[in-house]
Amino acid sequence: MIITCKKDINSKQLTLIFNELDKNNLSYSINNDLGYKIILVNNTRPFDDSILKANRGIASITDQISNHPLVDLVDNNYTVIDVNGIKIGGDNVVIMAGPCAIEDYDTLNDICFNIKKSGAHILRGGAYKPRTSPYTFQGNKEKGLTIMNDVGKKHQLPIISELTNINDLELFIKNVDIIQIGTRNMQNFALLEAVGKCNKPVLLKRGMGNTIEELLSAAEYIMKNGNHQVMLCERGIRTFEDSTRTTLDISAISVLKKKTHLPIIVDPSHAAGKSEYVESLALAALAAGADGLIIETHVSPETSVSDGRQSISCDELNSIINKGRTICSVYNKKI
Ligand code: PEP
Ligand code: MN
Repeated sequence: MIITCKKDINSKQLTLIFNELDKNNLSYSINNDLGYKIILVNNTRPFDDSILKANRGIASITDQISNHPLVDLVDNNYTVIDVNGIKIGGDNVVIMAGPCAIEDYDTLNDICFNIKKSGAHILRGGAYKPRTSPYTFQGNKEKGLTIMNDVGKKHQLPIISELTNINDLELFIKNVDIIQIGTRNMQNFALLEAVGKCNKPVLLKRGMGNTIEELLSAAEYIMKNGNHQVMLCERGIRTFEDSTRTTLDISAISVLKKKTHLPIIVDPSHAAGKSEYVESLALAALAAGADGLIIETHVSPETSVSDGRQSISCDELNSIINKGRTICSVYNKKI
């Protein structure tokens, strides 16, 4: 860390700096060559610089130390997560598909049969739905999770569902293979710490108003608590553009692949908001290097109780997977 002091820093302000560094057992050296003090601090771990930032005698603080060391990519060593034998990351490209919300047993059973036939590896579905309006369908909750667990077991597909409340964690540990943290909860730090203490893979979705740096720090909350089975998900961010529901940040995939070893999953459905845009966004994500896709898929999108407008049919999923295989082969990756 480099602390550049103002020329007119007073002795009280200087003492505050030294006290803060001493309190944190940080060694430092002082350089006066330029006529003002530059303090070179030997920190090797993230440091809480809030007290220093409040010091009016400091002109600037620069720190090269990452705030998310556990999440950072080191020596191109990418993480591969194993979910019941399905490998996520590395040379494997995973397809998660299923309805926005779990409706009833027969519908989910039908969807699961068809997505598996198309080549999907994991069944998605929401039981607790974080809906913008309290007057829309809120999900079938515990009953939905039980239906999904039964269907997943019957077709031997792992299942992923969104956890919205810390009180439901035990229920999720019992019923799902991957815990999804949704866009609205990316910075629900109590929830992140709780899933960090459990031994289940977690898919962490990027907040629709959050930067890549904030996403990486959110993932650090999970990993710092012991759970290293974390996947990140780009699902579209809010921009001025309103022809799609949100804007799929394709560049986030390129950036994340350079910054973190964690697998990157892309959700083209919530970014597009319209089914006709899902295929091209999904294929663009694979071309950009995504490790997987999570796509809202329904046997009858027009009667889906939630997000039907952006849900694709099982035939459309089949087409994405087939074209995706060609794109992935360019990188020697396999769907
Ligand atoms: C979902 O996947 O069903 C969902 C609600 O996603 P997001 O949190 O990205 O809106
Ligand atoms: Mn949805």
